[in-house]
Amino acid sequence: MIKAKKKFGQNFLTDYQIIKSIIDEIKFSEKSKYLEIGPGMGALTIELQQKTKNLGLIEIDPDMIKILRAKLNKNTQLFEGDVLSFDDDFFESYNVVLGNLPYYISTEIIFRFIPIKNIDTLYFMVQKEVADRLAAKKGSKDNSVLTNLIGFNFRAEKCFDINPESFSPVPKVTSSFIKLTRHNDYINDIPYIDFKRIIKESFKFKRKNLKNNLKDILKQSDFENLKILPTNRAEDLTIEDFIKITKYVISNA
Ligand code: SAM
Repeated sequence: MIKAKKKFGQNFLTDYQIIKSIIDEIKFSEKSKYLEIGPGMGALTIELQQKTKNLGLIEIDPDMIKILRAKLNKNTQLFEGDVLSFDDDFFESYNVVLGNLPYYISTEIIFRFIPIKNIDTLYFMVQKEVADRLAAKKGSKDNSVLTNLIGFNFRAEKCFDINPESFSPVPKVTSSFIKLTRHNDYINDIPYIDFKRIIKESFKFKRKNLKNNLKDILKQSDFENLKILPTNRAEDLTIEDFIKITKYVISNA
């Protein structure tokens, strides 16, 4: 019996109904190449292999690699290492990335795929708290830096929550399965770097309003021109509001 390693965030999916629900959410196409992050002992991998001949896997733990090899068919490619150490060229050959992510680096992994233009869909199991921030709407306390920075490139959709009892060992938190679909709504409008600066400043002090957080960037008259209330907090704005602010700041710089 293999002992789960905490340092690799190992919580293995044991609930077959959840595995089936995950597979049912994924859109499979013959043309797409799929990459699974952290296959572990293959709970999802075995099902994925039934659905696609174009499957790659990245796993960091040599003990998992040994177990996995015996379960793979000839089409599946297994790569050993830290997902964050692979370069853009490697990822460019894939279109869909998925996995039950190790929670200690789940947001780093999501951010890693923003610049990889070929990847159009991400399906990830993450902590519910992260999923709620990714899919947050204006006015919610979960509307945050993460919501907006990922929202610049991806539309987030929470598919369903998963009880801790569906894993072994049982984690302390509830999980959620999310789908992130790439869109090109804003990339031709403004540079991401300028948008990121506005987001970071707007959310700098959570309890402060926009007037205070953006005091070095926008004056009262700018808020009037933008038709945005300076007494709002950042969480009260939509991503379109932040796009509008960024465009305004660039064109008035
Ligand atoms: N997919 C399996 C399942 O659902 O049962 C395992 C999921 S477990 C939450 C996370 C997996 O990611 C583990 O197999 C762990 O070894 C692997 N992992 C952790 N850190 C990693 C990294 N930096 N790069 C690649 N794999 C990693």
